[in-house]
Amino acid sequence: MQEETIEGRRTRDTDALRAAFGREGCPVCTVVLEYLELLIDSWEYEGFSDVEHRHELIRSRGFCPLHTWQLAQRSNAFRLGLIYSEVLTDVVHELQQDDSRLATAAATVSKRKSLFKGWWRRWRHHRVEYPTHAQCFFCRSRSKVEQRVISTLVQQLHAEEIRTLLSQSTGLCLLHFAQARHQAEVDDPLVLRHVLTCQLTCTQRVLEEVRELVRKHDYRFSDEPRGNEMISWRRAAQLCAGNAGVR
Ligand SMILES: [Zn+2]
Ligand SMILES: [Zn+2]
Repeated sequence: MQEETIEGRRTRDTDALRAAFGREGCPVCTVVLEYLELLIDSWEYEGFSDVEHRHELIRSRGFCPLHTWQLAQRSNAFRLGLIYSEVLTDVVHELQQDDSRLATAAATVSKRKSLFKGWWRRWRHHRVEYPTHAQCFFCRSRSKVEQRVISTLVQQLHAEEIRTLLSQSTGLCLLHFAQARHQAEVDDPLVLRHVLTCQLTCTQRVLEEVRELVRKHDYRFSDEPRGNEMISWRRAAQLCAGNAGVR
C-alpha cells in the first residue's frame, strides 16, 4: 500500500517535472513552488485549525518572512490575526517574565553586588536568542518536497528523453544543482555525469544569451533585431538565485 503511494508520488513528480522543463526557470524550483502553493491552499482550508499545529506556530513565532508575506498576499486577514494574537500573547508573557526577573535582580543590587554580577553573566549567556526561521512550517515542508523532487529527477535521468528535456530547460539553480549532484554521488556515479553534462549545456546556452544581450546594448549594434536573448538576464538570475518566490 505504502509502496504504491511512493510510486504514485514519483509519477506525479515526474509529470510535474516534464511540464516544468518547458517553462522558464529552474524546473525543480517550479515544481517545488507548485507544491507549496497547493500546501498553502490546503493549510488555509484544513491545516490551520489543527490545535497541535497552532501550538507549533506559537513556538516558531509564525512563519519566516517569505512565507509570512506570501500568506499576507492572499485572503488571510482572519487567520493571520488569530495566529498573531496567540503568538503575541506568548511574546508578551515572556517579556513580562523577563521584566519581573530583572526587577527582582535589580532589587538585590544595592545589597549584594557580587551576587548580581554572577546572575547577570548567566542571564546574558542565556538570553542571546535571535529568531530562527528554520522552524517555519512551510520551509520545513519545502525541504521535504525538494528532497523528493531531486531524488525523482536523479532517478529519471537514466532516461535519455528526460536528459534531453533537462538540457533544453533553463537549467537547475545553483542550490538544486548542488542537491542533485550530491544525490547522484550517493546513488549512482553514472547519473552524476548526466547531471553535470545537462547543467553544462544549459549554463553555456544562458551564458551565450547574456553575452548577446550585453553586446546588443552597445549602440553600434542597436539596429540588430532583438529577441528572447534580451530577457536572458532573468534565466541567468534563475540559474544563480533560483526562481522568484521559492526562498
Ligand atoms: Zn531551483
Ligand atoms: Zn518559510
